Amino acid sequence: MAAEKEYDLIIRNGWLITMDAAGTRYPSADIAVENGKISAIGSSLPGSGKEEIDAKGNVVLPGLVDAHMHMTLLRGIGDDLPLMRWLYEVMFPKDAQIQARHIHAAAIMNQAELIRGGVTTFLDIFRFPSESAAIAEQSGLRGVFCPQIIDEPAGAGETLESNLAFIEAWKDRVPERLYTWFGPHAPYSNFPETYAKIAEYAEHYDIGYHTHICETEDEVRQIKEKYGKSSVKLLDDVGALNPRFSVAHGVHLSPEDIELLAERGVGVVHNPSSNMKLASGVAPIPELFAAGVKVGLGTDSNLSNNNLDMFEEMRIAAFLQKLYRKDPSVLPCEQVLRMATMGSASCLGMDHMIGSLEVGKRGDIIIMDMHQPHLYPLLPEPNTNVIEQLVYSASAADVWTTIVEGRVLMHERQVRTLDWAAAQDLVVEMAQDLISRSDIWRRLGREA
Ligand SMILES: [Zn+2]
Repeated sequence: MAAEKEYDLIIRNGWLITMDAAGTRYPSADIAVENGKISAIGSSLPGSGKEEIDAKGNVVLPGLVDAHMHMTLLRGIGDDLPLMRWLYEVMFPKDAQIQARHIHAAAIMNQAELIRGGVTTFLDIFRFPSESAAIAEQSGLRGVFCPQIIDEPAGAGETLESNLAFIEAWKDRVPERLYTWFGPHAPYSNFPETYAKIAEYAEHYDIGYHTHICETEDEVRQIKEKYGKSSVKLLDDVGALNPRFSVAHGVHLSPEDIELLAERGVGVVHNPSSNMKLASGVAPIPELFAAGVKVGLGTDSNLSNNNLDMFEEMRIAAFLQKLYRKDPSVLPCEQVLRMATMGSASCLGMDHMIGSLEVGKRGDIIIMDMHQPHLYPLLPEPNTNVIEQLVYSASAADVWTTIVEGRVLMHERQVRTLDWAAAQDLVVEMAQDLISRSDIWRRLGREA
């Protein structure tokens, strides 16, 4: 008699929203993970799992992909300022004072928040990436780390040298889960030559790079005055636009910029909450889709959002376009859910391995607790409203289980891989330390 098949993990009886190309859904199915990959999907799968989870009545989704965030420590500080004042008077002076221990505390807070909110892959562009990567080694999340290089003002960020040192130290440490990229901050804080060098290095290492682009009208004007062209054209002229590259924001893009991004295969990560809070503007998302650009979704940082809730980000992405276009049919909910899964995955060059629930892809899976009053009435297949409930009514707090490569990072809302309760005092202590070191209260015109 053949031995019974044993998987590492089986989730049984879930309502599977696969987000595959056909948008396949299974009203009740099992999904099994073996050696980090989805190995079977079907009804009443024979065999057993080392861990089995009954998801009856709940929704099983691919893990969400936050394709642009920063491992920042502070939150609720320096709010209500315009972007360039916020950056140059508060954030850059603060960033220049950041030490590794601050990022250590920030990474515990942020990664606990991501796990609780059903994010399984994130892209972090910020300082001391080794600290954040070390926490990710423990948290189990999939991470892309982009040391935030700033040429001007000097000292406010990482440098090309520190970025290269980070890549050398971490590139092979946790293969196919922790990724080392380049993170030039923006065309107004980096020289075009820096982008040119990075494009070459990225090809050499066969890795990606990420930047902020066309975030505000100020930037567009500055770059135009300095270089006589748009930020997108500027980076194309130094050979930096290609499929390895993904850009955040893309609020103020001309039709020519959009065409260039599409032609070169550059992904654009939409950050609607941050763009609204900093009054940056409304990104041309329908135009980007129409041009065939890869479009993903990101939360941006806790300083400009002020949370890492991808469900809220999806809802705001949809609402913002509808209001701005005065057309409620723009950006329907299924398209928004696709942005947060496959769209973000393609911006990271990972659409072959994550972003949908398909046999052979990584076991990055979340389970949503659908038994809450704000998610009712939840109508059964085939005329279901399940995607509507997920995008327009759900929040990070409804995530019940978070799994990466078949490893259960959180179940029944209990995070298993990070001790958030033990880290709370440290986060406050480090935040106070960073605030006083960078003299933030005086900069904001308050008593120290
Ligand atoms: Zn950002």
